[in-house]
Amino acid sequence: MMDEKNYRLSEIGEMMEAESIITENDFITEILTDSRSFRKGENFLFIAIRGRKEDGHDYVKGLYDKGVRSFVVERKPDLEKPDANWLVVSDSLSALQKFAGAHRRNFNYPVWGITGSNGKTVVKEWLFQLLSPDKRIVRSPRSYNSKLGVPLSLWLMREGHELALMECGISQKGEMAKLEEMVKPDLGIFTTIGPAHQENFDSYEEKVIEKMELFRDCPELLYCADHTLIHDTAKRVYTGKRVTWAENAEADLRIMDAEPVNDNHVEITGKYMGRLSKILIPFRDRASFENACLCWLALLHHGMADQIISERMAKLAPVAMRLEKIAGINNCTVINDAYNSDFASLNIALEFQAMKSKQLKRVVILSDILQTGEKPESLYRKVADLLEANGVKLFIGIGPTISKYARCFEKTESKFYDGTDQFLEEFATHEMHEMSILVKGSRVFRFERIVQRLEARNHETVLEINLNLMIENLNYIRSLLKPTTKLMAMVKAFAYGTGAKEVATILEYSGVDYLAVAYVDEGVSLRKAGIGLPILVLNPESSAYDAMIRYRLEPQIYSFRTLGLFLETLRIYADQMPYPVHIKINTGMNRLGFDLADISALAERLTELQSQITPRTVFSHLAASDGEEFDELTKRQIARFQEACAEIHKAGIKSFERHLLNSNGILRHPEAQMDMVRLGLGLYGLSSNEKFRKKLKPIHKLQTVISQIREVEKGEGIGYSPKELLTEKKSIGVIAMGYADGLPRKLGNGRGCVRVNGKMAPFIGNICMDMAMIDLSGIDCKEGDQVEVFGDHISIYQVAKNLETIPYEALTNISQRVKRVFYKE
Ligand SMILES: *Cc1c(COP(=O)(O)O)cnc(C)c1O
Repeated sequence: MMDEKNYRLSEIGEMMEAESIITENDFITEILTDSRSFRKGENFLFIAIRGRKEDGHDYVKGLYDKGVRSFVVERKPDLEKPDANWLVVSDSLSALQKFAGAHRRNFNYPVWGITGSNGKTVVKEWLFQLLSPDKRIVRSPRSYNSKLGVPLSLWLMREGHELALMECGISQKGEMAKLEEMVKPDLGIFTTIGPAHQENFDSYEEKVIEKMELFRDCPELLYCADHTLIHDTAKRVYTGKRVTWAENAEADLRIMDAEPVNDNHVEITGKYMGRLSKILIPFRDRASFENACLCWLALLHHGMADQIISERMAKLAPVAMRLEKIAGINNCTVINDAYNSDFASLNIALEFQAMKSKQLKRVVILSDILQTGEKPESLYRKVADLLEANGVKLFIGIGPTISKYARCFEKTESKFYDGTDQFLEEFATHEMHEMSILVKGSRVFRFERIVQRLEARNHETVLEINLNLMIENLNYIRSLLKPTTKLMAMVKAFAYGTGAKEVATILEYSGVDYLAVAYVDEGVSLRKAGIGLPILVLNPESSAYDAMIRYRLEPQIYSFRTLGLFLETLRIYADQMPYPVHIKINTGMNRLGFDLADISALAERLTELQSQITPRTVFSHLAASDGEEFDELTKRQIARFQEACAEIHKAGIKSFERHLLNSNGILRHPEAQMDMVRLGLGLYGLSSNEKFRKKLKPIHKLQTVISQIREVEKGEGIGYSPKELLTEKKSIGVIAMGYADGLPRKLGNGRGCVRVNGKMAPFIGNICMDMAMIDLSGIDCKEGDQVEVFGDHISIYQVAKNLETIPYEALTNISQRVKRVFYKE
């Protein structure tokens, strides 16, 4: 049984080197860094951390009102709360890190530290799968591997565990030393080195050296000796014992052979300490092979018998790296986390649910939580408190143990089932309407069957959106900005066809400063989805000015006419004055905007109107930021814009910020960043500039399925008004996507193609409204197989080229009836 390791507040204060103001020297049972994870029944210590956007100090009062009494803060707030305890520190995050390090040093069982560019989470999860049958293991939940994630993971260590698996990730120079001080690994595992976060490092080597820092005092290090950069750097800077696997280089575990035995399995033969042995793994891709070899090495080094290793390796299960949000039946949203169910990851999944579905009624379907070693009664009470704290309205527990402890959940409406089959038989899913349903269970419960049942499947075409990559793009662009330059994200046109609400929610969470849409309706729907960021409307229709003001949307003013119209409506909203507006200057695009010749009259007018409107920003738009051949034009635009701003400023209007650059502008004309930039296409991972394409990651994948396959004889035609007849017998596939979905007719008759099971299949005949036909000659496939329209193999640039257009149009073509599926790790 796990012994709680509780600390008195005064002890924690000492570990944190805090100035302590303690009225009641209580035991602390939990730490809290995110106010949303608050639940009753714990004696929390809240650590107020300043983030890029949020400041934990803003939540101190709210948490006090909920009953939290102990706080780590950087300044004591002016609250008259005599019964609160304050640990005042200079930096809350590093105080938490000191505490986590001290906590970790209380335990003598081994800590394995895992780092590398890719594969950390998979290796950690696989080691857990391989070792947990005979060891009680504590591990980082999901990919909690950052400067905040690592201390929170270490805090999960308890008496009674026998091994800790800690994942450590960095994004910048200098970060690993801090992680090392906390984790102090007894055994190190270095997975791979790759391009992740490379924008913050000068070279791969520099990144390897930084990562090696984790193993500074670590006696043993495991890695692949074929990764020469890791190998050479380890030889040079690492002083402990190196333990390696390799296919080519000399190594402790030498891979002699790797042979696919069928579609799904590979047999690997290796030689370790002079003896040959084999494992079979249920994966065929290269990354899984490397991860498996590294795990194999770890098990051999750990002394596990060959027989047991091969039994367990054959049963390795894929690691669900991401939480999926899927459109469900009856306007429900389903969050699929059907592969694991420990308490820490439940917390993360609930946060994801809260962030993704602010408006919907929340439902949680959860299986028994296995392998915890904790008393079920107290575990399920904690779960129940967490559900209540997260506003879960309906709880469904599946499994014999959770059903037995149903009494723990009495405060939430709840239902219990002995197993997944029983649930599927008895539960009427049509009872679920407009709900957000989190499905989370241990693998053995096979909750993917529940997800399938809940998933809306009227239309088989999906646009997959990888939100993690979007964040990476955002961070890359941020790395190019001066610290003082703000960022406006363009989410017009349904966020470039992506899904405006979801994108805006993530952007708000990631600390973007402003959003921009084209029309008032788009802004209103963001407000209804709970978005609080300021929103610029680029082209507000005068008929919608009322709605605009009621929803606090800020208009672009581009002419004296629109200024007059807006003021007419604004008159009825005297309480809203002065109202924020944005002044658009025409500097050479020759679309909307005030001309340079208008500026002095404009400045005068703005001065008169100071009590009614406040120009929050003044901006202009570049006509051709992507190509060198237009740099003269761009320079002229920059100069004109600066001139216009200076003139307005001189007239006494000082309230505004200036912005000019769109994505390509940010990438190519950094000198013109000014106070803010407007990021559009780059956020979605695309650029018309070859050089920047390599730095950005496209986030969209458009997929559909083959509805039917038929053999068509020579001399027959395909589809409507066939241009030509078949000159030979052909196998023809019908796919579930047509021009009404955003597959333009122009791609028909061989001008475009899709990818089926690794091969290209050109369109044949004309594209229909809801369907299209493809030529499957020489492709091994069956009905129901997936079809890539664009994504990993067919780039959207290629599709745009076939259409003789630009990626912007190819993306915004995709119709709203195509289901959007969002992923985030
Ligand atoms: C769409 C738009 C942008 C964004 O352009 P990208 O090339 O997609 O970055 C910036 N500013 C204005 C005024 C826009 O309309």
